[in-house]
Amino acid sequence: MTPSDLEFDQRHIWHPYTSMTNPLPTYPVVSASGVELVLSDGHKLVDGMSSWWAAIHGYNHPILNEAAKSQIDKMSHVMFGGITHPPAVELCRQLVAMTPASLESVFLADSGSVAVEVALKMALQYWQAKGEKRHRFLTLRQGYHGDTFGAMSVCDPDNSMHNLYKGYLPNHLFADAPQCQFDDEWQPKDINSLQRLLQQCHGDIAAVVLEPIVQGAGGMRIYHPEYLRQVRQLCDEHQILLIADEIATGFGRTGKLFACEHAQTEPDIVCLGKALTGGYLTLSATLTSRHVAETISQGEAGCFMHGPTFMGNPLACAVANASLKLLSDSPWQQRVQSIETQLKAELSPLKSHHSVKDVRILGAIGVVEMKQPVDVASLQRYFVQRGVWIRPFGRLIYLMPPYIIQAEQLSRLTNAITDAVN
Ligand code: PMP
Repeated sequence: MTPSDLEFDQRHIWHPYTSMTNPLPTYPVVSASGVELVLSDGHKLVDGMSSWWAAIHGYNHPILNEAAKSQIDKMSHVMFGGITHPPAVELCRQLVAMTPASLESVFLADSGSVAVEVALKMALQYWQAKGEKRHRFLTLRQGYHGDTFGAMSVCDPDNSMHNLYKGYLPNHLFADAPQCQFDDEWQPKDINSLQRLLQQCHGDIAAVVLEPIVQGAGGMRIYHPEYLRQVRQLCDEHQILLIADEIATGFGRTGKLFACEHAQTEPDIVCLGKALTGGYLTLSATLTSRHVAETISQGEAGCFMHGPTFMGNPLACAVANASLKLLSDSPWQQRVQSIETQLKAELSPLKSHHSVKDVRILGAIGVVEMKQPVDVASLQRYFVQRGVWIRPFGRLIYLMPPYIIQAEQLSRLTNAITDAVN
């Protein structure tokens, strides 16, 4: 890429959460392979981000490349209305087989945020079909579910990037975020806030929506499985649907295939995305039970009212099929476990550093929470100089590397963080 490409980029192209008048620098990546990103000047960076939880097998994987190439020679896309095709059927078979037994109806869409919209609409149509007008969702503070309007409406109302939209969004219910961390002793009072809201408002609530175990972009918080277990119990008592947003946590990231498994909990609706295609193409899936699907289908509309143009995109489904097979054929549990062990050994010592508020680790996720917000541009520059790709935000410096990362590469990431903190 030439300097004029970078100038054009700065002048004309929006990047995620980035100003058009005073943009943060962008780094030109021209290729990526395994766990390395290659910059246009040839400089290589060890990737600590998996392109935001997605590239679990690393980049430029021969098996995923082959799946894309072979599907492209058959057809890249065909409409899903009135048509089906082998990649979608195979993918939905795999998803139904790998998720809890009760989840058997799959809706394919284009991104994580849309999967969340679909889940919310499923819950609303479910209650409409039952003849009840339930229009509110109960969710957790410090949650994050995406950038579209429905998804934004269930993101943390004060603390997230979406507080700008307050007043434009429906007024949902927010329980205090769980305080009890994954390995702490369970504190029964953690559930009080959610329990109280359920007791007060259960007749208005269509569903509880949450990220199971790990709250991602809303603060990288890792909470106690007992919390999730009790949420399920309370939803059952009040006959309210539970929507689990596993878009970030799904496909092994937390050490279990799905984070709900830490609490032996089955949601009524689950949202999947990100790592679904191994980070190759945008695709998401929302799965629900036959009971919910049939109830919706018996409602006034007679169907679920959603159908995106690129629904079930064959190319994305073919790559997802290859990625899921690659995952199940790989020793991903051992890989994630050794990443966890190494992150604990190499990042935990930072806990006692005077600028560090907390260090949290679960599976292939390592989080260093600073006491003060970090200077993203200068920290990023430092990391790039050190040959690593780590993108901090707010007070958080965090890692979620591809599962195939080698111990020496992971140490380069943790050493860079340790040195940056020091
Ligand atoms: N839910 C969660 C938990 C997420 O982490 C994200 C993405 N960061 C989304 C939903 C939205 O997904 P997408 O960016 O693909 O729309």
